[in-house]
Amino acid sequence: MIQVFQYPHETLLQKSTEWKKNDSINGYDDIEKFERDYIKLMLDESGMGLAANQVGITKRFFAIGHDSFDTFKKHAIIWNPKVINFSEEKVIDVEGCLSFKNIWLKVERPKTVEVQYETTQGQTKNATLDGMESKCFQHECDHLDGITFNKRVSKLRWEMANKG
Ligand SMILES: [Zn+2]
Repeated sequence: MIQVFQYPHETLLQKSTEWKKNDSINGYDDIEKFERDYIKLMLDESGMGLAANQVGITKRFFAIGHDSFDTFKKHAIIWNPKVINFSEEKVIDVEGCLSFKNIWLKVERPKTVEVQYETTQGQTKNATLDGMESKCFQHECDHLDGITFNKRVSKLRWEMANKG
């Protein structure tokens, strides 16, 4: 059974390693079955993104998807995702995280990003993301580097939010 770990679970603080062609997921023979279970877990938790290390797997992939998105309107796992270009323009908006129940933080991030990733079918894709979709992609990439969103705000703002 996969489950979402809460901060400060140790894998949330670790930098994940590249997903390689011959890698597999413990307990799954079939990556598409894993993808379905993984996306279901994200949706059950009302998330729009879920990084592998949030479920204890320190490999570079995450699920992303929301009806309001353009590129990721359909939920999918993407593999070895990376941001290849950030806009200079930044925006501040509220973010939540499935590993921080009931905590909402205003995080400043580049407004648009150019990204690259691999699909479950093995294709390499590029996209330009904006709005919540851009934020979500950046938030999940941060996870893969062991950076949780509380590290992106001032200590004071984090302490205020953490008090509830
Ligand atoms: Zn998160």
